[in-house]
Order: sequence, then C-alpha cells, then structure tokens
Amino acid sequence: MSDDQWFEHLVDTMGQVAPERAPARLKSKVYSALVARMAESGPLLDLAETKKAGASLCVFENALTVVPLGTNIRSMNPCRICHARVMGERMEHAPVFWPGCPYADFHHH
Ligand SMILES: [Zn+2]
Repeated sequence: MSDDQWFEHLVDTMGQVAPERAPARLKSKVYSALVARMAESGPLLDLAETKKAGASLCVFENALTVVPLGTNIRSMNPCRICHARVMGERMEHAPVFWPGCPYADFHHH
C-alpha cells in the first residue's frame, strides 16, 4: 500500500468515528483562563458598551449593566461574576441554562 493509499484509508476509517468533543469542564477552564489573560493586559470592554454593540450578555452580566456601579466594576472580568463559571469548571453537565452565557453554551451544545 502506498503512503497516499494508507492515508486515504486512515481518513476513511476516521470519518466513521464520531468526532471527539472536548469536555465541557475543560472548555470552561480554557475560556476562564483566556479571559483572565486578556484582563491582565488591560481592562475589558465595558459590559454596557458590549451590550449596546449588540452582543448578548448572560443574566449576571446584564445585572451589572443596570446597577449603577463604577465603571471599574462594570469592566471587570465578567467571568468572575458569572455563577455558571463555578459549576462549569467543575461539572461535566452543569445545570446552567441561562442564555447569552458562554459557560452555559459549553455545557449544552
Ligand atoms: Zn455567564
């Protein structure tokens, strides 16, 4: 069997296997780490601004946009205030269902 044929055979075989998905817990941790890294290099975009730009916010982030707080609190790492993060990083099928939340998305898609 030539190399080409061998690889074609391999691809055919792999195509029949359901694609493996990263565990939701892992996705949650990676997401938290990425946002934490972004926050290190400067303040994140203000949540109210983000909402105005048409992005969806989760319930916890939304709550912060309506509460009259200082902008330093609004622009803090939104993941740290989301209750889904705590469960999302520890459970594989976390019971987090609110829309607009990346953690909820990881666990239900
Ligand atoms: Zn959230």
